[in-house]
Amino acid sequence: MSPIDRAPAHIRAIAPYQPGKPISEVAREMGLDEADIVKLASNENPLGASPCALAAIENALLEVARYPDGNGYGLKSALAERLSVAREQIVLGNGSNDVLEMAARAFLAPGASAVYSQYAFAVYPLAVQASGARGIEVPARDWGHDLPVMLKAIASDTRIVFIANPNNPTGTLAAPADLAAFLAAVPADVAVVLDEAYYEYLAADLRGDSLAWLAQYPNLIITRTFSKAYGLAGLRVGYALCAPEMADLLNRVRQPFNVSSLAQAAAVAAMADMAFLEHCLAINAAGMVQLTEGLRGLGVEYIPSHGNFICCRVGDAAAVNRALLERGVIVRPIAGYGMPEHLRVSIGLASENARFLAALAEVLGK
Ligand SMILES: *Cc1c(COP(=O)(O)O)cnc(C)c1O
Repeated sequence: MSPIDRAPAHIRAIAPYQPGKPISEVAREMGLDEADIVKLASNENPLGASPCALAAIENALLEVARYPDGNGYGLKSALAERLSVAREQIVLGNGSNDVLEMAARAFLAPGASAVYSQYAFAVYPLAVQASGARGIEVPARDWGHDLPVMLKAIASDTRIVFIANPNNPTGTLAAPADLAAFLAAVPADVAVVLDEAYYEYLAADLRGDSLAWLAQYPNLIITRTFSKAYGLAGLRVGYALCAPEMADLLNRVRQPFNVSSLAQAAAVAAMADMAFLEHCLAINAAGMVQLTEGLRGLGVEYIPSHGNFICCRVGDAAAVNRALLERGVIVRPIAGYGMPEHLRVSIGLASENARFLAALAEVLGK
């Protein structure tokens, strides 16, 4: 008998999160040059981070011997001003992943349950499982969240509903009006986590005003991140927006210094560089057109996406993925999501998108 055998069964049963393959690993395995490899596997910003953020990191380096501001005053102030919320409504996270886990830790325990959709972001079932609570997975509709069915799935022991909007990996979006109706119907004692990791990529007419719901729904937790459109995935910084009382609860399960000083400094600077953000969004929109037109040209079906990635149906995705890796193109197989015929491709620079399309054409014999 080892301590491992004594760990709770729900912990031992967790299947680890499958991250995208690092470039160095593919180079080693395939005998390729790292410089010749294109990684479109983790929804990272192909333009990197804003030069202003990089400069802020350099400045902040001088202070790394000190603990970060555990209350994140500067970053919360910048967010509060930009988003017109109070600092007391913001909870900072080590990536938004961290705030998703805080929500699970704050509300879930054995005997409770959480509702999420089939094909929704893999972190929800993982966080639920780690808490010992029961996950209730609701069948998707057209690859997206079926909100009326999710509403009906809420049980007497349900404490959280997770909604990814847009969703990863499918890229689907719930219309603001449908979400508003959902929020109005959810029991007041069930927390709703609205994960908006890809919010910045939404077209203006699709964004809706989710922040306006905060005043109306004290059970709402909106999460956003600096990992995607702001290009700071490696620094790990995200946040939750919610009622002050909810923020107070989440902060009780937050590690005191969960966001590093470098991450806080970079996020403040990244937020101030609107020109860089706009450029990233424009590159993404152009890349989306390039990829969808390319896929259509190859006769490859795809799920229309509102994020910085797209899922395409390639048949035996494991085999196609292997052949793409041999050609130095890393994308994400999503069989773990129950989608064994699809690959998720992050939108890259025009040259990277072209590399992917050319490799896919070759692999599919088109
Ligand atoms: C990438 C992603 C996140 C979180 O990423 P962090 O780097 O932890 O901020 C959250 N939700 C979804 C749906 C994502 O795709």
